Amino acid sequence: MKERQAIQRIVIVGGGTAGWMAAAAFAKVLGPRYAVHLVESEEIGTIGVGEATVPHLRRFNDLLGIDEVEFVRHVQGTFKLGIQFRDWGRIGDSYIHGFGKLGHDIGPLAFHQFWIKAQLKGIARPLNDYSINTAAAVLGKFMPSSSDAPANSPLADIHYAYHFDAGLYARYLRGYAEQRGVRRTEGKIAHVHLHPERGDVTAVQLENGTRIEGDLFVDCSGFRGLLIEQALHTGYEDYTRWLFCDRAVAMGCARVGPPTPYTRVSARAAGWQWRIPLQNRTGNGYVYSSRHISDDEAVAKLRVSLDGAPLGEPRLLRFTPGRRRKFWNRNVVALGLASGFLEPLESTSIFLIQSGIARLLAVMPWNDFSPVVQDEYNAQLAFEIERIRDFLILHYHAIQRDDTPLWRECARMEIPQHLTHRIRLFMDSGLIFYECNEMFAELSWVQVMIGQNLMPRGYHPLVDQISDAELTQLVGGVAQVIDSCVEVMPPHQTFIDRRCPALPG
Ligand SMILES: Cc1cc2nc3c(=O)[nH]c(=O)nc-3n(C[C@H](O)[C@H](O)[C@H](O)COP(=O)(O)OP(=O)(O)OC[C@H]3O[C@@H](n4cnc5c(N)ncnc54)[C@H](O)[C@@H]3O)c2cc1C
Repeated sequence: MKERQAIQRIVIVGGGTAGWMAAAAFAKVLGPRYAVHLVESEEIGTIGVGEATVPHLRRFNDLLGIDEVEFVRHVQGTFKLGIQFRDWGRIGDSYIHGFGKLGHDIGPLAFHQFWIKAQLKGIARPLNDYSINTAAAVLGKFMPSSSDAPANSPLADIHYAYHFDAGLYARYLRGYAEQRGVRRTEGKIAHVHLHPERGDVTAVQLENGTRIEGDLFVDCSGFRGLLIEQALHTGYEDYTRWLFCDRAVAMGCARVGPPTPYTRVSARAAGWQWRIPLQNRTGNGYVYSSRHISDDEAVAKLRVSLDGAPLGEPRLLRFTPGRRRKFWNRNVVALGLASGFLEPLESTSIFLIQSGIARLLAVMPWNDFSPVVQDEYNAQLAFEIERIRDFLILHYHAIQRDDTPLWRECARMEIPQHLTHRIRLFMDSGLIFYECNEMFAELSWVQVMIGQNLMPRGYHPLVDQISDAELTQLVGGVAQVIDSCVEVMPPHQTFIDRRCPALPG
């Protein structure tokens, strides 16, 4: 049998959200068998955006054993029940893609099947009225699941995520990781050493000459992809033919009014604008296509649309939507922006860091790097990203507005085959099938398709087994239960004030 060399030294390059999430998870899970060393450069800094998350992050924090109240207080956090989409579909439309459940499934039939028939008969309320997340969000209410509520009550199962200051999150995780033995070196990497025969990375060298050797390198160096691209030339799959937005301008403003328990994303002439409420400020950004608007115009549009006094100067960011051809190449695993970036519409980037870490831990190399394991890792992540990509394309393509060149191009573009099939199946019979490893489950697709006016022509035949009177009773009853649950929920601001006000900055 071939002599296998123990892998002991893990070097993480970069101390943004990706670097410190990886460091914290390794420190917690791997134990003393591995030595974890993180290198970051304060001079280069971090990207400084990434304020909206998805519910999966709670699993990551739970894995680390992080106390939620302490965490929210440290990161200026607020709670997120979903994303409100304004002016997508048609100008004037508004819908929420909420996390969590929708209505009440009956046997094998999802609730939305009954809703489709009720809608076709004109007896349904808007879909958002049947989910506790979306109904509470529009009223500015929030609470986590209540252990006092009966098990079948919507109040017993509330799914939520956070809005937070990404810089504070990275700082919080840094404290966590350093306390658990992760070593940190400050400095700018000037050179990456490759093995002369094998071609894998052997060490990174700082400007001051310090050389840091490792067995496994985790590239969290941001868009530049210092190891995965600049050293290993892994290559990039460019998705700009479907995702036209390639720039963003970000700018904070003073908070006006209580924080909404949702992210708002409003479609604009050449892209879309985010609004993310934190405890101490509101984060804003215009994500746009550089073919359809200039940087100066985008900055001007963002400035005039802020709902509070601007804080600081606008920051311009450029990106190419896409992903690395391989996320794991030789002895380098790329996480975060170094591994690629789609765009922030559905707040999926931090989730993908988490997913990359979880998948890496599941196959952690102990002795040697097995090509078959690397292939599996790369295939799993590629699948996950491609399905998220398709979900994002859906938002742009399922659009009825034709007021600007961007939206006309989006409506006309050729979309990936898998997405075409999903849309056709849904339009035909309201069916969506979840494929293992997908991030967004059926309900996310249902909410966005219906939110953007893709109304199915038909529904599952078993729905006809109940009479019209029973159908009326079912949809009416579900809406009534949701209404009464939302009634008892506190305003989001009140919940924060009572449970987790931010620590004085
Ligand atoms: C416009 C925009 C909006 C976004 N919004 C969201 C959102 O709402 N939700 C979400 O989940 N994600 C969002 N993201 C993505 C999110 O910002 C990133 O996924 C996240 O911040 C992780 O970044 P990172 O750690 O990979 O890179 P960075 O934050 O760029 O960190 C890179 C690190 O590498 C270090 N480094 C680089 N070169 C060197 C060198 N030569 N020597 C030493 N150190 C080096 C830097 O100092 C830094 O520490 C958004 C991204 C963009 C562009």
